[in-house]
Amino acid sequence: MERKVRTRVAPSPTGDPHVGTAYIAMFNIAFAHVNNGEFILRIEDTDQNRYTEGSEQMIFDTLNWLGLNWAEGPDIGGPVGPYRQSERFGIYGDYARQLVEKGEAYYCFCTPERLDNLRERQKAMKKAPGYDGHCRSLTKEEIEAKLAAGEPYVIRLKMPYEGETVIHDRLRGDIVFENSKIDDQVLLKADGFPTYHLANVVDDHLMGITHVIRAEEWISSTPKHIQLYKAFGWEQPEFIHMPLLRNSDRTKISKRKNPVSLNWYKDNGYLKEGLLNFLGLMAYSFKDGKEIFSLQEFKDTFNIDNVSLGGPVFDLVKLGWINNQHMRLKDLKELTELAIPFFQAKGYVGETLTDHERSSLERIVEIIREHAHTLKEIADESEVYFKDEYTLPELTEDMDKKERKGIERLYNGIQDEIGKKSIKLFLEKIEAYPTEDILLDDAKKLLTDTLEEIGEGPGKVYMPLRAVLTGQPKGADLYNLISIIGKARTLARLKRMIALYNI
Ligand code: GLU
Repeated sequence: MERKVRTRVAPSPTGDPHVGTAYIAMFNIAFAHVNNGEFILRIEDTDQNRYTEGSEQMIFDTLNWLGLNWAEGPDIGGPVGPYRQSERFGIYGDYARQLVEKGEAYYCFCTPERLDNLRERQKAMKKAPGYDGHCRSLTKEEIEAKLAAGEPYVIRLKMPYEGETVIHDRLRGDIVFENSKIDDQVLLKADGFPTYHLANVVDDHLMGITHVIRAEEWISSTPKHIQLYKAFGWEQPEFIHMPLLRNSDRTKISKRKNPVSLNWYKDNGYLKEGLLNFLGLMAYSFKDGKEIFSLQEFKDTFNIDNVSLGGPVFDLVKLGWINNQHMRLKDLKELTELAIPFFQAKGYVGETLTDHERSSLERIVEIIREHAHTLKEIADESEVYFKDEYTLPELTEDMDKKERKGIERLYNGIQDEIGKKSIKLFLEKIEAYPTEDILLDDAKKLLTDTLEEIGEGPGKVYMPLRAVLTGQPKGADLYNLISIIGKARTLARLKRMIALYNI
């Protein structure tokens, strides 16, 4: 009978969760989904030296944020748990000893000094480093005596000296390794802890994993895993190695050259839809060339054979473009809710919001999302709607020509007689407006009426108005601005600037 497809991610809780974990999880989820299978989460925390407090919870939180859900895992349990390797320690030693009994593995009593020595000698002779098989030929009596004397030991896998190990990778074809070049891998360490290789294989087997879809950096471990499956006499899963995410110089994606923490993307206002779409595109293209898609569409139409191995370069500009598309597609109310913490971080709104504030934010978000790349950018660019006290920018020596020109136009505008007249006329119109809220159409009309009554070109009238209403040569539409900030604040801005610049 065909086995039910089961895939997994198996991150180690060693710090801020990595974008690579989400990328690999996403492909595992899609593969399980199209095959009516299941996707599980396992925490590989056997390496206590690299363990960091709280990082397991961050893995749950960031994957949940992205909607990358698992059917079984340490937090929700499942039929083949526990799903956290530190809770499975008893299991691994037994399996390692089982291999010793079968003659597939052996006790190795070599001291760290002997191994250091060996390494030095290999180095001097320009030979590849590796264990020399010293303890492979110990007799039964020798082993028993050492065990009885309490000598520390590790358990090593007996790699065949001859022949080849072949990975039949679904995407890459056959990858062939000469057995003589593969070390006798340590399975159980002197402290009784399993190595990654042993724990990973035992757990994939016991958890019924049928397809191991992981990054290409694990290819060199896979022949050791295949030999382990053989040694146990277990059916091996299918191995599929996904292309690594890369920096623009094509090295493996790294902190120094790119943000790699999922929390960074969350904290900087990327939408989960944008980040997932981007990660999906890293190694996959839709047949019709579609670039913007949802996780659901990705899962529903996924075909593992369409994964491309090109070595995708992580490009934040592209991510920004994709995120912008998703911000524009998203329901405005929902997007605004997501943007609120970013407005709060700027101090533009408080802990709790009035209905009026909420609807103003919606209008601000609607305008700025057209061109912003992140929620954070939306908040960063919204200052003009919140800050009522400003001055005109100073002219400085190092300014480029265009910038200088823009600012000069502001100063000229408010010193010019027509400019002054326009500002005062507009002030009268706002004062006469009957309600605090200014409708958008009315805001437009107040501006165009001012223009008409002054009877000059728009630059002569609108530039000085822009100067006093925003302090900036470009940016927000004045009518949107006025209607968003309302009558009282518009008046306050006008009066303050009139006094400040003797208009
Ligand atoms: N614990 C490994 C990691 O941190 C798992 C690798 C694998 O998928 O086998 O990615």
